[in-house]
Amino acid sequence: MSYELPNPDPCAPRHYRGRFAPSPSGPLHFGSLVAALGSCLEARCRGGEWLVRMEDVDAPRTVPGAASTILRSLEAYGFAWDGPVLWQSQRLAAYGEALAQLQAAELAYPCGCSRKEIAEGGGGRSVDGAPRYPGICRHGLPPGRQVRAWRLAVPDIEVDFEDGLLGPCRQNLQQNVGDFVLLRADGQYAYQLAVVVDDAFQGITHVVRGADLLDSTPRQLWLQDCLAAPRPAYVHLPLATNEAGEKLSKQTRAPALDDADPGPALYRALAFLGQEPPLELSRAGQVELWAWALAHWQLDKVPARRSIVLPA
Ligand code: GLU
Repeated sequence: MSYELPNPDPCAPRHYRGRFAPSPSGPLHFGSLVAALGSCLEARCRGGEWLVRMEDVDAPRTVPGAASTILRSLEAYGFAWDGPVLWQSQRLAAYGEALAQLQAAELAYPCGCSRKEIAEGGGGRSVDGAPRYPGICRHGLPPGRQVRAWRLAVPDIEVDFEDGLLGPCRQNLQQNVGDFVLLRADGQYAYQLAVVVDDAFQGITHVVRGADLLDSTPRQLWLQDCLAAPRPAYVHLPLATNEAGEKLSKQTRAPALDDADPGPALYRALAFLGQEPPLELSRAGQVELWAWALAHWQLDKVPARRSIVLPA
């Protein structure tokens, strides 16, 4: 990959570098606290760095003010990150270069299909429930069509990886996902491209995040291969869901974290991550909880599950 990595010496040992990459579509809630805490503790306990990246690449989904609210909450909860925050909205040139590299290698192709055509194209469903792209433009835009989006042509192969908690994982990209979008019809770069370009640019060696992204990992591994970027190791933490099995989010009305009293939510997040914090810490403040967590964190105590229902 042609990006300058923060550690450009290819012979230097790859130290641990993790990250938390929130999307500023709303304030932090308990689910995002779990991801931030798990990724930070794993990085710190392995003597690593921990970076924060603001994933504000999706302009229509970015809520004004949410990014600063998230950063303020992280500070209130005692998180300290290394280096400046990387803002995806400042990285469009790098995403453009990566897309150009994929276009030049004829791995990316232009697509002129509308949503309706894709939905009615008989491609079935992809793992995330959206209509799977039926491949209409894969071998060239049909005559008279305008380019709307750019897609990655994915092969009919299994992508395998070892998740640090869930063990061996495997997905057939073509059958389970289909040719996915890199540059959307509204002119926005897709999350899958931005995340891969930035994980490489920031020299991320370990991605620890919620299991809602497990199905995206094979796409990201494949993109890394296409861009000759190193593959980080992956750990997917259990996702906190409500009784209906829905991920906590703004849409499911997950309450924002209380910045004025971080102790109780930090304690619950440690318990959710299987760390069994002692009962006497249930009323402790964040300084005491962090001291305990940094001394006791064990990744292998985290339940190896895709989701856990939070009691109402
Ligand atoms: N920005 C993504 C989210 O908030 C997370 C991306 C990642 O950790 O790879 O869901």
